[in-house]
Amino acid sequence: MLALAYGGYSPVKAEGKNYSDYVNPLMGKLSEHQLSTGNTYPAIARPWGMNFWMPQTGKMGDGWAYVYDNYRLRGFKQTHQPSPWINDYGMFAIMPVKGMKINEEERASWFSHKAEVAKPYYYSVYLAEHDIIAEITPTDRAAYFRFTFPETDEGYIVIDSYDRGSYIKVIPEENKIIGYTTRNSGGVPENFKNYFVIVLEKTPDSWSVWKDGKVCDGKELQDEHVGALIGFKTKRGEKIQARVASSFIGFEQAERNLKELEGKSFDQVKEEGRKVWDKTLGVFDVEMDLDEMRTFYSCLYRSVLFPRRFYEFDASGKPVHYSPYNGKVLPGYMFTDTGFWDTFRCLFPLLNLAYPSMNAQIQEGLLNTYKESGFLPEWASPGPRGCMVGTNSASVVADAIMKDITPKEIQEALYEAMLKTANDCHPQVKSTGRFGYEYYNELGYVPYNVGINESAARTLEYAYDDWCIAQVGKKLGRSASETDLYLKRAHNYKNLFDPSHNLMRGKNKDGQFQSPFNPLKWGDAFTEGNSWHYTWSVFHDVKGLQNLMGSRETFVHMLDSVFAVPPIFDESYYGSVIHEIREMQIMNMGNYAHGNQPVQHMIYLYNYAGEPWKAQYWLRQTMEKMYRPTPDGYCGDEDNGQTSAWYVFSSLGFYPVCPASDQYVIGAPLVRKATVNLENGKKIVITAPDNNSENCYIKKLKMNKKEYDKNYFTYEDLIKGVTLQFDMSDKPNTQRGTKAAAFPYSMSE
Ligand code: CA
Repeated sequence: MLALAYGGYSPVKAEGKNYSDYVNPLMGKLSEHQLSTGNTYPAIARPWGMNFWMPQTGKMGDGWAYVYDNYRLRGFKQTHQPSPWINDYGMFAIMPVKGMKINEEERASWFSHKAEVAKPYYYSVYLAEHDIIAEITPTDRAAYFRFTFPETDEGYIVIDSYDRGSYIKVIPEENKIIGYTTRNSGGVPENFKNYFVIVLEKTPDSWSVWKDGKVCDGKELQDEHVGALIGFKTKRGEKIQARVASSFIGFEQAERNLKELEGKSFDQVKEEGRKVWDKTLGVFDVEMDLDEMRTFYSCLYRSVLFPRRFYEFDASGKPVHYSPYNGKVLPGYMFTDTGFWDTFRCLFPLLNLAYPSMNAQIQEGLLNTYKESGFLPEWASPGPRGCMVGTNSASVVADAIMKDITPKEIQEALYEAMLKTANDCHPQVKSTGRFGYEYYNELGYVPYNVGINESAARTLEYAYDDWCIAQVGKKLGRSASETDLYLKRAHNYKNLFDPSHNLMRGKNKDGQFQSPFNPLKWGDAFTEGNSWHYTWSVFHDVKGLQNLMGSRETFVHMLDSVFAVPPIFDESYYGSVIHEIREMQIMNMGNYAHGNQPVQHMIYLYNYAGEPWKAQYWLRQTMEKMYRPTPDGYCGDEDNGQTSAWYVFSSLGFYPVCPASDQYVIGAPLVRKATVNLENGKKIVITAPDNNSENCYIKKLKMNKKEYDKNYFTYEDLIKGVTLQFDMSDKPNTQRGTKAAAFPYSMSE
């Protein structure tokens, strides 16, 4: 009930409530190429589920498959899409219709968001032109459909196996349809297929197969674009149910996956889905204003979808997966559909803190990826995709090993995988491994003028990734000569620092800086950002960066300048204003570009320079301005949980600036109260009773009832259970956190 209300009373307590009722799966749907407010779709799924389902407004193959201001639905699509830019694979669609309307134009129906219910675990909509209500409730690998028909002799369910090579077979004696789709957007072996099985709970009156939208004779078709048309004579209000499952392994496994629904009614599966979501979301029990609660749980929902399970359970109940790398069926876990360039920053640290057993499985999946492909993944969907830069898999692996979330017996092997990935490059997919590693290892940077794009961004991220490798090497007792090499390389960020601008700048092979240089130019030596955004990508050595700038005061001045410089930009590298630039321009926060990932840790850096109150101010500004629980709710691409997990952490009052260190840098909580129910049974209890939109500053902080004067918490502090009492004020406390002893970790300390 609370979820239906909007605004008005506050604060709200979530405890004992259905957390999933606060989630708005439509947050971020009012997006298009030129302006993203999230570029998300309503993922109707289980947390980290292998298959998601979504209503489809876009045409077949369009990555913008559900856009809020489109008014017609073409079907309900099984989707595995991580982002519209990466697009989908293994998709097929189901659509109930009145009348023989097969292709996606004919069958499309007007609908209203007011006649739509979207929950993480359930979706329903009224398809106006067919006078049919469609409902879906999924499990990890299967889904239950319920269609409420009008009185008609021409009720149909269209099954669309999609184009580019598909298969369909109707099996009337078993009330069953099977088929497969081969649709993908790259990153799959030759033999890739998604095999599906659909079982109807009412015996149909007619069975047909179709090709290119035209009904054909027979019961089976394999061609470019095929599907099935199943006919029913229905009474008004008659409900027809269908159970659906799929597998990347084969039809037999798809039948096995269908057992996730065995012995359960539609409503039982729906209730089970609600409980699973409430339990997952309920790890965080927060108290804030109602709108903020809706934002918080919508963000948390986005934080526990990716990377998705890409494994299934065999006849003996053991995990097994189709390898998106070599096309074989192999034992063990596999996960996919995330880009580490985005998610290393705080999504994986969130999993390590709040959902460590899930990340332990993911780490096993990463080792399998290495065994099957020779590399750790960087952008996988489902196999390697050419996208973004860095070898930030090192951060994802290191944070989990340093916190002993990774099973001990695979830590060595993952470390070897990190070393290999840091000293090689995928022959076809240059964003896997390290593009330019030969230059980097020899010169200490990737040169600007040797045909390797975004070279400065690569150098900065490689240097941090090398610090990550060194940490794990030390933990695992590797030789000093090895760890020293990576520690030395962790200083490589210094090679790109230009003291004449106090900024990072591309450097040519001969040691000269790139010229001309415009600090406001997006892309070029950087990735989807400018030098003002990327200069801060020294997660492991902020003190070292301060030293390069000359003083703490200069460093703070440079941070201040990001907000003070008007939102002017140079888009010439791209030839047009990319959406990330536009999202910065329209927010009236200067050159601060929270809509993209490179700068998302920047505000926290005031804590390393003795002016934490500035972080507190800007964090509150960002939380209040950049996030809403509405269809235009994000300030840029959400990106597989990263931008959402930022809000989850920041609302609690801390953030993992340097994953693989043991520290979380303190911000300023938005919650009035929060309890994080850790897997080990301990609790992090945060109170900030005076919080309101004026009181954004920390006056005083107590840890376990004792005054606490540092600008960070440690993993140890949090994981053993802790109470954190924040006294909030509308005036900055310019005395707290100002001394070097209070500052977070830097390698140069
Ligand atoms: Ca992004």
